[in-house]
Amino acid sequence: MTQLFHIRTFGCQMNKHDSTSLSQILINEGYGQTESIDDAHIVLVNTCTVRQKAEEKALTLIGRLSHLKAKKPDLIIGVIGCVAQQSGMDLFTRFPYLDLVLGPRNIHHVNRFLSQIKEQRERISSLDLACELTPFPKCNGYLKGRVTSFLKIMEGCDNFCAYCIVPFVRGRETSLPAARVIDQARYLVTQGIKEITLIGQNVNSYNVKNRALPTFPGLLKELDTIAGLERLRFTTSHPKDLSGELIDLFAGSKSLCPHIHLPVQSGSTKILRLMNRGYTRDQYVDLIRRLRKTRPDIAITSDMVVGFPGETQEDFEDSLSLIEEVKFDNLFSFKYYERPGIKALQLPEAIGEKEKQRRLSILQDRQRGITLSKNRLLEGTIQEILVEGPAKRGGGQLTGRALGNKVVNFPSRADLKGRLVRVKIDKGFQNSLLGELVDR
Ligand code: SF4
Repeated sequence: MTQLFHIRTFGCQMNKHDSTSLSQILINEGYGQTESIDDAHIVLVNTCTVRQKAEEKALTLIGRLSHLKAKKPDLIIGVIGCVAQQSGMDLFTRFPYLDLVLGPRNIHHVNRFLSQIKEQRERISSLDLACELTPFPKCNGYLKGRVTSFLKIMEGCDNFCAYCIVPFVRGRETSLPAARVIDQARYLVTQGIKEITLIGQNVNSYNVKNRALPTFPGLLKELDTIAGLERLRFTTSHPKDLSGELIDLFAGSKSLCPHIHLPVQSGSTKILRLMNRGYTRDQYVDLIRRLRKTRPDIAITSDMVVGFPGETQEDFEDSLSLIEEVKFDNLFSFKYYERPGIKALQLPEAIGEKEKQRRLSILQDRQRGITLSKNRLLEGTIQEILVEGPAKRGGGQLTGRALGNKVVNFPSRADLKGRLVRVKIDKGFQNSLLGELVDR
């Protein structure tokens, strides 16, 4: 009987990509994937410790799995990802029914570990942060029906921003050789993928450390020549590493979409310095000016942290004024979250939970207004959409993304999946746009 696995994923696109890679590895080894946790012989929980809510949700799920294990003693339960890396063996103490604890750099060994657990019924943990970065496993058919895909090009980070745990749980920055990235991209295109998003903790420092060629703009130029690759995106970028050469590519590349996610984190230069971000508010605003000068229709999204230690009301108002000045298309904002080992723990003047929540609510409320007005500005425009399939809400609508990464829904009964179509935008909402097909 085919052994079935079920993966539950929390956190960012890196985790989603890791879960996809894990699925492909396991399918290649003869396992089957199931959407039902009750039918699974193996349950893997891919965790995030960067965001408080994601960590809490993952730990709650792991706790609930004890009932399933009591009913099915042969069930294998594994915790992977950033919580696994951070908590390590402590997870076995907290959840004694766990079989596997696997750090994010160790997922390519999953099959060997599962065999060992089955044969010897022993618990296994693997938390090596110095492992080589392994490319996306190939698996014919797995991507069937999909038109977009992530492609990991680097992992880890050397920046040690004072609030961030990533360098401790994902390790030091490591880049996948360009030849392998290009090979993976070509493979994805042969599988029907039309849009690739290159991912990594700081993609624009790709290959910089190794002094190898090409660096990130060079890699984008090589990928730009792949026939059949309609669209290229990347995330996440660090403002201090955003070069003029990369900015220029937004005007000069055939496939690079006019969207950049450029995390700012605070509008106060004092807080940016405490965060160890390596740029000032003015330098960030200047990057935005240069991006918009190069590509006036570029969509810009960002991340912001509120309640960082020492953030006064004035610093917070600097963040509010920054979002009014830049007018981000969207903003992902979070309360500062204390994690073990981060530098910010040494800073005085911690902000209380209630005040953090107050600031977050004000910031999110302001940004909602900005996002809505930016989406409404698109009413009457014609946007190129890559059709991804039927809209979630159904109703005879198709869905896809505009070049600026906004979700666009439009009525159509035709089978247009994977096609680039032009849609006239009739209505801008908070999270999406609604339009009508102009032509194919
Ligand atoms: S650049 Fe800063 S915020 Fe981003 S992953 Fe590295 S340490 Fe974390």
